[in-house]
Amino acid sequence: MISYVTAFIDLSQKPFVLHPHPHEDELLSSWLVRVSVAHDTMPCSLMNMHFPEYKNIIFSRDLDVWANDDLLAKLSIKSNLPAETLFSMTLQSYRGILQKKILTNTGNNMLSPIVSRARKNQKHGLKYCPLCLAEDSAPYFRKIWRVSFYSVCLTHRILLLDKCCKCKKPISFYKFKDDAGFTKCWFCGQKLSLCTSIPVADNEYLAIKKLSDIILDKKYKYANQEISVLDFFTVYHQIAKILNPHSSPSNRLNPCESLKLSIRFWEEFDNLLNGKNISATTQKSVLSKDMTYIPAFYKKKLDTL
Ligand SMILES: [Zn+2]
Ligand SMILES: [Zn+2]
Repeated sequence: MISYVTAFIDLSQKPFVLHPHPHEDELLSSWLVRVSVAHDTMPCSLMNMHFPEYKNIIFSRDLDVWANDDLLAKLSIKSNLPAETLFSMTLQSYRGILQKKILTNTGNNMLSPIVSRARKNQKHGLKYCPLCLAEDSAPYFRKIWRVSFYSVCLTHRILLLDKCCKCKKPISFYKFKDDAGFTKCWFCGQKLSLCTSIPVADNEYLAIKKLSDIILDKKYKYANQEISVLDFFTVYHQIAKILNPHSSPSNRLNPCESLKLSIRFWEEFDNLLNGKNISATTQKSVLSKDMTYIPAFYKKKLDTL
């Protein structure tokens, strides 16, 4: 039985007694909740006892974005895991890949915001695949599910979900009520693994597969040329903004809209590589509007239009 702790013990000098090993591509917050489940203690209570200096902070903000070097170093001592491993579980590890910098507020173009208040997420930025959760021997939340364009599970070829299928509330897995697992909706108790989603077509699958491969390969290759991953996603963001001017870090697309945008991106990006304008008629000044850094390959293409 998971317990709310009423008598706080200072565990700041003690290691975690139990610490399940992180899974492949697991989010730091997901792992810390599993550590808390292993201790039969609510995540907030366990963190307050181990990190009194971060009392009521750890899960009150977007931990996967803000986790700083100090916290990671302390977590490393408590879990005996290298700080680098713990860093790789945060969204800061996308620094230099998806964006030059990952901001600690909600203003990241390439990440889906959650806007946590009192450990309840206000935005639907935490996506999930119900079939992955159903098949996991120990269910967990993946880091890539927080990437804004990542709208399809490449294993199950279905659209990711971004809310509880029953009550439609955003997912807040650090706020579970019982020990039956943190993969239930905190509000209505719906098992997220029993929610259903829709299969995607081959072209939809490929649009997302190609984007996620660029993260893995750290580059995009076309016609004997290589574009660095950061240059590619800088241009991805610019083209996505042109195709969908109303999107902003605080006004995110849902997985279905996001998937449509990714498909349009590839159409327009291929046009651009073939010397054609984006959306056929876009003003040239718009193509580089507000860009503080214009990748060389993009500038070259714009110059030939
Ligand atoms: Zn899946
Ligand atoms: Zn619900």
